[in-house]
Amino acid sequence: MRTLVLFRRDFRLLDHPALTEATRDGEIAGGYIKEDTLTSAHDYWEMAHVVDVKQSLNDEGVPFLLGDAPVVDQVTAWCDQYDMDAVYFNRSYLQDEIEQEDNLIEVLESKGIVVKRFDSDVLAKPGTVLTGKGEYYKVFTPFYKALRQEKLIQPVKKPTDFSGLAIESSDISIDEPAWFKKLLKHFIPGEQAALKQLESFLHDALSHYSKRRDRPARKDTSRLSVYLAVGAISPRVIYQAVMAYDEAGPGMDSEKEAFIRQLMWRDFSYQQLYQHKEAEKKAMREEFDRFNWENNETDIERWKQGQTGYPLVDAGMRELYETGYMHNRVRMVVASFLVKHLLVDWRIGLQYFEETLLDHDRQNNALGWQWVMGSGFDASPYFRIFNPITQAEKFDPEGEYIKRYVPELRQLSGPALFRPFEASETELKRGGVVLGKDYKEPLVDHKAARERALMRYQDIKEAS
Ligand code: FAD
Repeated sequence: MRTLVLFRRDFRLLDHPALTEATRDGEIAGGYIKEDTLTSAHDYWEMAHVVDVKQSLNDEGVPFLLGDAPVVDQVTAWCDQYDMDAVYFNRSYLQDEIEQEDNLIEVLESKGIVVKRFDSDVLAKPGTVLTGKGEYYKVFTPFYKALRQEKLIQPVKKPTDFSGLAIESSDISIDEPAWFKKLLKHFIPGEQAALKQLESFLHDALSHYSKRRDRPARKDTSRLSVYLAVGAISPRVIYQAVMAYDEAGPGMDSEKEAFIRQLMWRDFSYQQLYQHKEAEKKAMREEFDRFNWENNETDIERWKQGQTGYPLVDAGMRELYETGYMHNRVRMVVASFLVKHLLVDWRIGLQYFEETLLDHDRQNNALGWQWVMGSGFDASPYFRIFNPITQAEKFDPEGEYIKRYVPELRQLSGPALFRPFEASETELKRGGVVLGKDYKEPLVDHKAARERALMRYQDIKEAS
């Protein structure tokens, strides 16, 4: 059988059921389709992984095709040109992509081409973990407990015997812009880099994950999201490696559990978006779509540039800009600041993250913003308004993270670092900071902004 294996956010050879099955069934070629031009950090990151998987397949004697036509046209054209008998791929759990897949399957099957699609990108397929009433879970903790009881599918081994079709690979040359090359100083693309990152996390950080995961200054979380977002590693491989990690140590089991719980948030997002396909555009709790936003352009720009006058918010936004990543704790703080302190529509923040995050993931991003906004089904309540000052004091007590990304505040210490706008003249002078010149005055007053946000929330509550 001559099989085309389509890749899309699954740029790996390990735990790639479509690839493994195709290698068993005969000769293969890989293929990837990119219709739109590359713009976001994630686009370029994904393309770097296309190059990586192409190289890995070529090394095994398997050709790789790159196309830019609409999916159905491109795949049928390849099938005609290379006389394919079958097309295999791992499925998406996004409804618009599922429709596209269904359409592709219909066209291919009408031409007598065998199509197979596989599950690979989640621990449990959406729709398999349901409540006693057979409904989707709306709240994470019971979902997590139920998922924990499931017998999870084992990862599929990397194929050993490849038989490539005798066709030419496409040339792939990407003109990576300088801003993207800078991000590669922080993250190395590729499946091998992903597996190495997993190993380092197991050895260096898993044993204190629960205690340190909220501290943005150190690399104490796995940072595997950048690889999961392009499928350079699968969640099943991560799950299996964590569970099998047998380095005994005090409390290791609870550390493993804390990590697996976070990993399972990803599955939760996937099943939520599977069920609520509009959740990237609409609030899951409808009343939030009636929210009266300010959407002030200057505020939005200053938030993006990390110039809000709140050191932790600014450090987070600058970490994102400089590295293409932001620590989870800080994502919550900056997102809350945008939607609650500045009253900016959460979809504006969601889009900015989409443009800038290497690990942009449609499900996790939508759920993350809806969680912070309070508009998701299992979300932080709206009245929980993160205080950017106390969050900094608690989670960056030495100010190490702030000083790294907001160098103009490096000479400040103690409370002055976390709230320069309340520091005395002497403290600021000693730290070499002139407010309004070296560092911005705060965009809003925390207390006043908090009250304003709560009043707006009251309006939608009363109207509903
Ligand atoms: P670790 O702590 O090592 O966790 C391991 C893995 O578990 C992560 O890689 C991720 O796949 C999963 N995970 C952990 N926390 C969450 C969570 N809260 N929700 C869903 N999955 C989680 N994550 C993305 O992958 N892409 C996004 O576009 C994204 N946008 C977000 C937007 C907002 C506003 C917020 C608050 C969170 C967002 N997250 C997103 C979730 C979370 O911030 C990242 O997954 C995490 O910071 C990645 O770092 P890590 O791999 O070191 O995480």
